[in-house]
Order: sequence, then C-alpha cells, then structure tokens
Amino acid sequence: HYNFCAGPAALPTAVLERARDELLDYRGRGLSVMEMSHRGEDFVAIAEQAEADLRELLAIPDNYRVLFTQGGASLQFAALPYNLLGAGGRPNFLHTGIWGKKAISEARHLFGDVHVAASSEENGHSAVPRQEEIVLSDDAAYLHYTANETIGGLAFDYIPEARRPDGSEVPLVCDMSSSILSGPLDVSKFGVIYAGAQKNIGPAGLVVVIVRDDLLDQARSDMPTLFGYRALSEAGSMVNTPATYSWYLAGLVFDWLKGDIGGLAAMDAINCRKAARLYAAIDGSDLYANPITLRNRSRMNVPFVLADPSLDKAFLAEAEAAGLLNLKGHRSVGGMRASLYNAVPEAAVEALTTFMADFEKRRG
Ligand code: PLP
Repeated sequence: HYNFCAGPAALPTAVLERARDELLDYRGRGLSVMEMSHRGEDFVAIAEQAEADLRELLAIPDNYRVLFTQGGASLQFAALPYNLLGAGGRPNFLHTGIWGKKAISEARHLFGDVHVAASSEENGHSAVPRQEEIVLSDDAAYLHYTANETIGGLAFDYIPEARRPDGSEVPLVCDMSSSILSGPLDVSKFGVIYAGAQKNIGPAGLVVVIVRDDLLDQARSDMPTLFGYRALSEAGSMVNTPATYSWYLAGLVFDWLKGDIGGLAAMDAINCRKAARLYAAIDGSDLYANPITLRNRSRMNVPFVLADPSLDKAFLAEAEAAGLLNLKGHRSVGGMRASLYNAVPEAAVEALTTFMADFEKRRG
C-alpha cells in the first residue's frame, strides 16, 4: 500500500520498523521511550541528538534556537503574535489560501487589526503574489506567509523580502508545515520558521519552531507562559512535559534523512522527480487537470480534478483497491489530492501514474 494522505502523512517504513524494534525496550534499557523521564539522561540524549541532526540537515545558524513544542501548527497562529507584538505594530500577512487565511483570522481574533500585504484571492489562489505586489504597512511588526498551501497545492517559488515602505526590514515568519525538509533551505532569511510535524517530521501534535535569537524578547507581557519562545528556549523546550515520543520519532526521521537519504539535496532531487512525474501524467491526459500556475505548483501536495466528476467515486474506490490510499481531495475543494511528502517513495508515484493512465483508458 502507498499512503498519499496530506496529514497525518506516511512515515518512512524504515523509521516505523526501528520504532517497532525499540518500542518495548529502548536499547536494552528495559523500558520504552514513552515511559522515560524527559529529564533523564537517555531522553535528554535523544532530544539533543534530534536537535543536532535537524540543525545539520537545515544548516541552521548558531543564532537560531530550535524548539520542540506542542499544540499543532495552529497554536502557533496565536503564539506568534503574542511573541512578536510586544513593541506594538501590526502583523502583516500574505494570503495565499486556507492556511494563510487561518493564521490571519487568529491574529485578527486576538489583536484586532492586521494588514494583508498581498493576496492571491483574485486569481483563485492559482499563483502566489510576486515580490513587487507585496506592500507592507508602515507599522508592520512582521510578515507571515505560508510556504506551501497544503489544500490548494500552491507553493512559493521564492523567499519574499519583508520591508516596510520606508525600506526597514521586519522579521519574515513562515509556516512551513507541509514543505519543511523537502529540500535545502536558507534559514538565515527568516525570523521564525514553524512546522506542524505530521507531514515531513513525525507524529501530529508536535511542532518545530526555529526562531532567531533577537526575537526572543519581543513578546507581549500578557502572553500565556507556554507560548513563550524565550521560556521554551531556556528550558530546552521542557517548560512542561514535552511530547517525548513524538520528539523521539522526529529524531528517527532526521536520522533517516541524513543516513538513508543522504541529506536534503538528495531529498530535493527525489522530490523533484516525484512531482515532475505526477504533473506530467496530469498534463499529458485529457481526464486529469491541475489549475496551478507552473512556477507555483507544489511538489508536496498535488490536487487534481477529473474532467467528469461523476467518475470521482469510481476513481477513489479503484485506487484504494489498487493499494493507493487517501487520494480524496480536501473536503473544502473536492477532487483528488496526492501528497508526495518525503516518506512517499518514487515507486508510489509510479504506481499512481500507472493506475491513472489505466483508469483513463478504461473510463475516460
Ligand atoms: N499550516 C499548514 C500549511 C498545514 O498544512 C496545516 C495542516 O495540518 C496546519 C497549518 C495546521 O496544523 P495543525 O493541524 O498541526 O494545527
């Protein structure tokens, strides 16, 4: 079976096998990682190794802190404005789809006015705004965007610059939930990067936050303690009991990326091949279509529709019977969606495109 779920998504088989082997007895310690004290030597070693491996994979500069926190990426929609609005100003946003919109709504709900610096609403979220279309407010405190819109299948093909009209720079904040670790990244361009774990990192609930250290002291005084980047950083992400088992699994995924895959440049090449193959199958057919502008097509989430939607049910049922799971599009957009995160092997895309061609021949 191949799992094309958008999240929680497939994990590498090698990681699941290793977790299975270590489940009851972690390396002869006589207990499961799940049962360990988070302050004990063994778990602290697991936690530190995970951070070190993530730092190595993404070449995270020394002036960035890495936090392993909880509450899903959605909790960061609230934690971010609390952490960054201490000196006033308004959050600025790029609105490119459903997740960007949720981040905007939460900031608005908590702190009132926000500024949308550019939006792709007018083109139906089929192309991201270009740099010259982005206009920050004079009082911008930071600029938030969503690198990859998981539902729409829309991805930035560049890292935006975040400058107020007077030319001064503000921190760039990015939701990378569905694209982190899919390839190399210049972390130094960002103030804050955050990602829910359940796509390219590990189990749902865990969130990785990468924050530049000058942003640890910009928080509002009324911020809930557990939101605080400074407090989390000083406590090694252990202000309260962290999601220990998820953290451990994330560490296994980082180790797999380093060892089995050979790093993010190698992962990038694999992801390019997977996406190219699926988009070629879509573009080369009369039955399937994807609406996104070429330069902004997501490598991670590939939505597509059937020219005759009355075939949707049969497509999904036959795909499932062929071992191709979770291809149903998001409930808000319908159609199909194949998510091609890191753990989805090239063979899965081969099986999917073969199935699609066969289905079209028989039913198209
Ligand atoms: N941001 C993006 C881009 C997502 O794809 C998701 C989806 O799961 C979220 C945020 C929300 O994550 P969570 O469900 O962990 O809060």
